[in-house]
Amino acid sequence: MKRYKENQLKVYNSLTKTKEDFTTITDGYVGMYVCGPTVYSNAHLGNVRTFMFFDVVYRYLLHLGYKVRYVRNITDAGHLENDADDGEDRIAQKARLEKIEPMEVVQRYTVDFHDVLKNYNFLPPSIEPTATGHILEQIEMIKEIMGKGLGYEVNGSVYFDVLEYNKKENYGILSGRKVEDLIHNTRALDGQSDKKNPQDFALWKKADKRHIMRWSSPWSDGFPGWHLECSVMSTKYLGESFDIHGGGMDLKFPHHECEIAQSKTCSGVTPVNYWMHTNMLLLNSQKMAKSTGNFILPNEILSGENKMLPKPFSASVVRFFNMQANYRSILDFSGDALEASEKGHAKLMEAVNFLDKIAPGKTSTFDVQKWKSACYSAMNDDFNTPILIAHLFEGVKVINLIKEKKASLNSADLETFKVIINEFVFDVLGLMNENLQDNSSKINGVVELLIKLRKEARENKDWALSDQIRDELIALGIQLKDGKEGTTFLIN
Ligand code: AMP
Ligand code: ZN
Repeated sequence: MKRYKENQLKVYNSLTKTKEDFTTITDGYVGMYVCGPTVYSNAHLGNVRTFMFFDVVYRYLLHLGYKVRYVRNITDAGHLENDADDGEDRIAQKARLEKIEPMEVVQRYTVDFHDVLKNYNFLPPSIEPTATGHILEQIEMIKEIMGKGLGYEVNGSVYFDVLEYNKKENYGILSGRKVEDLIHNTRALDGQSDKKNPQDFALWKKADKRHIMRWSSPWSDGFPGWHLECSVMSTKYLGESFDIHGGGMDLKFPHHECEIAQSKTCSGVTPVNYWMHTNMLLLNSQKMAKSTGNFILPNEILSGENKMLPKPFSASVVRFFNMQANYRSILDFSGDALEASEKGHAKLMEAVNFLDKIAPGKTSTFDVQKWKSACYSAMNDDFNTPILIAHLFEGVKVINLIKEKKASLNSADLETFKVIINEFVFDVLGLMNENLQDNSSKINGVVELLIKLRKEARENKDWALSDQIRDELIALGIQLKDGKEGTTFLIN
């Protein structure tokens, strides 16, 4: 269904700092690139916030009927200790410390990342390319940039000439930084002495002897600069110009600014139409970050194994907590906040689980069409999930009034109402109905109890009762099987 035809989506574009009507380059198709994780450690809950928001963007675009190619990369080389051009490669450093192969580090944390995504009900992206899988393309892009006179080689390393680029283009177009100011902000760090200007950034770095992750190139045995992979992989899979590029706000500079400079140099066209940036998840009023040790892991939430947590929480509650905040606002994480979200989530799910029990009334006491369009308007307004949730709770109120026989919906309205609640709660927000899962474990418990009572009846030679239990369970689609190990059951 091409719902996008009747829903004018607006997107806040970090490039223009305004909410703009969303128009795609090709009608009906969206190309979206989101910077993926650097797999040198476990993804923390802050990373999850960013990826979860883009999961909801992806889900809503699909819901609107777009065909979406969603590319989210895995950074498995090139990201140095600090985000500038110096220090050790994060993955190589971890490999050295743990005395394992860099690719073992990559494998371990990629598997962990996928595990988190599965637990938290993420849709997989269309393509998940890796930096190390695109070294040849990165070398080609460096040659192209050098061919345009904007890359220069010094001692086996290649740098991007920011000042030269800035003569015709605007380096700072995304972050608002001025090239002149960058001189003062750039520390004279190791390795930067090779650069013509301190603002320049590395496209290729010559590897020193201890650097284990290295590839041969026309300039040296070395490795690509961190920013290059995203320019290369976005162009390769989405074209020179594509619709949406996303990431956390902390990637605006230097990472995304450098991506624009590289891509624009090669193609001559604006690479991205809409830049979207998520705000940070805070813990103890500070950015949640691996480097400072101020973080919680997503799987610790599920097990409750972190002293900052009062108890375990479900993945769906964490999703709900994230979606209660606008993605462009900072969000403070705490056990108390999660407990509050848990209550709201339970209320929502309780109402959702009552939907099937509602019988249509003769008339409607609630304007379902108006409410439906309010739900869409919230999401069309730059994916405003907290406002959507507020509207879903208006729906919860209606369900509770129907329960008390103080409201009713006619059959057409009831049908629309059920569809909209289910679509927004499960398809768009990606929440999970844990109550249903709970119910299935409760059903298992009840059947086990009946098996025990049947066994006792047989021991007492009460064949009538034992047969009655078996037959009535069969009538409900539950089959008992007597074996050497006892009785098992099958629910059809
Ligand atoms: P990294 O693995 O460090 O490259 O980060 C992966 C993604 O998580 C990037 O888009 C970051 O901007 C984002 N990110 C990192 N820390 C946070 C945080 N505390 N809150 C929200 N997003 C974050
Ligand atoms: Zn990137």
